[in-house]
Amino acid sequence: MELQELTDSITRFRDERDWRQYHHPKDLAMALSIEAAEVLEIFRFKSVAQIDAEMPALKTALGHELADCLYFILLMASDCGIDMKQALEQKMAENAKKYPVERCRGKNLKYTEL
Ligand SMILES: [Mg+2]
Repeated sequence: MELQELTDSITRFRDERDWRQYHHPKDLAMALSIEAAEVLEIFRFKSVAQIDAEMPALKTALGHELADCLYFILLMASDCGIDMKQALEQKMAENAKKYPVERCRGKNLKYTEL
């Protein structure tokens, strides 16, 4: 499914339930942050080794929470008139300028520290 098809499916799901009245961008931003916290919750109190070992069992729950995040990202972008494909392409072009391969390959430094 393409990004626009996903967005159409999500907005249709929301609008069929008359939930837009509860979806001011402020509410969607809060919901996105809460869903991102639910991603963290999956890993809470686990070591990196535990997470790596348990990843096959965690994948379903992780996928569900990432889907929840994507749901709110696409919904907020749609409501705010943001073309996410274009926004992501612009951001990646900016990132490529900030992090040229020849200067940052294999380094974990922020672009201001390169
Ligand atoms: Mg969730």
